[in-house]
Amino acid sequence: MFEMAERIKKLPPYLFAEIDRLKEEVRKKGVDIIDLGVGDPDIPTPKEIIEVAKKALEDPKNHQYPSYVGMYEFRKAAADWYKRRFNVELDANSEVVSLIGSKEGIAHLPMAFVNPGDYVLVPDPGYPVYPVAAMFAGGEIYKMPLKAENNFLPDLESIDESILRKTKLMFIGYPNNPTSAVADENFYKSVVELAKRYNFIVASDNAYSEICYDGYEPISFLEIDGAKEVGIEFHSLSKTFNMTGWRIGFAVGNKDVINGLGKVKTNIDSGIFQAVQVAGTYALNNAEILNRPIREVFIDRRNQMSKALKEAGFEFDIPKATFYFWVRVPSGFTSSEFAKKMLEEKGIVVTPGNGFGETGEGYFRISITNPQINEAVKRLKSAI
Ligand SMILES: *Cc1c(COP(=O)(O)O)cnc(C)c1O
Repeated sequence: MFEMAERIKKLPPYLFAEIDRLKEEVRKKGVDIIDLGVGDPDIPTPKEIIEVAKKALEDPKNHQYPSYVGMYEFRKAAADWYKRRFNVELDANSEVVSLIGSKEGIAHLPMAFVNPGDYVLVPDPGYPVYPVAAMFAGGEIYKMPLKAENNFLPDLESIDESILRKTKLMFIGYPNNPTSAVADENFYKSVVELAKRYNFIVASDNAYSEICYDGYEPISFLEIDGAKEVGIEFHSLSKTFNMTGWRIGFAVGNKDVINGLGKVKTNIDSGIFQAVQVAGTYALNNAEILNRPIREVFIDRRNQMSKALKEAGFEFDIPKATFYFWVRVPSGFTSSEFAKKMLEEKGIVVTPGNGFGETGEGYFRISITNPQINEAVKRLKSAI
């Protein structure tokens, strides 16, 4: 046996092992399980994008190594889209880098800027990649609790000055996974102010900006005056165009931060398959048209799910964006106990909130990326 490195040993325990085991057990009994646990769109990528990719696949020049920074056309399409969508000006050459999915960029960013002993501020509950990436880089993790009384925004005032002085990087992400909360200009303004005062980098994860409802349009962190001096934003084609399997995203913003991230990437990967970049370029250049039908599917599901959860008596906020419901566990249960009950009694998989961090205890997450939404809704109505 070879002993694993300390960084692997330090990984948080896998909290879903019990649910996975139970899922197998319930399935063996012949129950038709509906998985509302994972946030991976079940709808295929728009046909037009696939057609563009097919043609690009035939072109031999796309069969060679791409550049790690990404094709100019793709970076230009990302910059143009940011201008159209958020009115943010970006230089495609110095302020955009392509990513093999935004997860790749999130995971590599701390390696470029965090030294052992530096603090990284991460939301709790939150996307698990933030603290793991910080830990792999040798950073110290400070968890910012996301609580209902603060609309699931971190309470910046409560972070101790002694932590802020040692902070190098802060991760935030709105519209938020898992809480589905959204952030406004005022929140981002206070983030920019704090980052300037204590000289740290802000990494904003905007993966869900295009999965939004009722006319609400999420803003970009980079819309705030001075944001580009302190930070970058990650965006992904995964959720916007149902392209999770294609592995394509990008980061935009502060050129020194983009450059640092690029330094890590040149030494680790060789960029995104160019046929995928050609398809991604097409997707971004036609984002408004291609994203509309996707929103419509999720709006419909969101409405169905809201109605069912309300009728069943659950406590939650109706999501304005993302495909997640962050729901209070009924009293008398822990998150894990309730997830187990849902699986055993209803054949429904939900994610226990504590899997996203200790502050997630008392909640569970439901994702609407499942075509069996009608059946799920029927089962949920009698859940409490
Ligand atoms: C899905 C998701 C992403 C996007 O991941 P990709 O690697 O681009 O597919 C990023 N952040 C959060 C919070 C997500 O849920």
